[in-house]
Amino acid sequence: MSTTPPTPPGGKGLVPGLLKGLATTARTMVTPSHTAEYPDVAPALPPRSRGVIALTEENCTSCMLCARECPDWCIYIDSHKETVPATTEGGRERQRNVLDRFAIDFSLCMYCGICIEVCPFDALHWSPEFEYAETDIRDLLHEKERLGEWMQTVPVPPALDDHAAEPAEVAQAAKPARTARPERATRPPRAGS
Ligand code: SF4
Ligand code: SF4
Repeated sequence: MSTTPPTPPGGKGLVPGLLKGLATTARTMVTPSHTAEYPDVAPALPPRSRGVIALTEENCTSCMLCARECPDWCIYIDSHKETVPATTEGGRERQRNVLDRFAIDFSLCMYCGICIEVCPFDALHWSPEFEYAETDIRDLLHEKERLGEWMQTVPVPPALDDHAAEPAEVAQAAKPARTARPERATRPPRAGS
């Protein structure tokens, strides 16, 4: 009893597939290669590359939102409360958070960008800087001083499109400051009182 050889996938035979493979090999052989000569030549990265996270410490209110949303739990924040005295006579004292520690462990970070997205105060920014490899993994824990230094490498945001709406922060800052209310005229005492 004779048996027929199995039909290759697609049922078109071996020869066309072999020719196609050879054509691909020949095309690859004549295509010039592009070798990235890093570190001798710095790569041209897109401005929105996710290299490292930079911190504007002055903007941070220690609200902990970024640390709570970080999927890797690699943001560490310590803060304490401070009493701010009243600015007007008879006014109330206020409490505010003072940032003691802000650190990101880049050995755990997965560069998802959630912390930057959720920060309500624009305290975190992407920098395309990526040359911070370390020989000791513990040195990938960047404290707030180092995160602040990365701000110098954050690119300026691109200009707005023509006729784009003004950003809410700019519109708010351009508003005139509130002036003190004029004091109410005191009513004259009623007759007989
Ligand atoms: S980029 Fe993602 S993983 Fe990295 S610190 Fe921010 S939230 Fe966490
Ligand atoms: S979300 Fe922004 S303001 Fe809040 S703790 Fe994080 S960096 Fe600071």
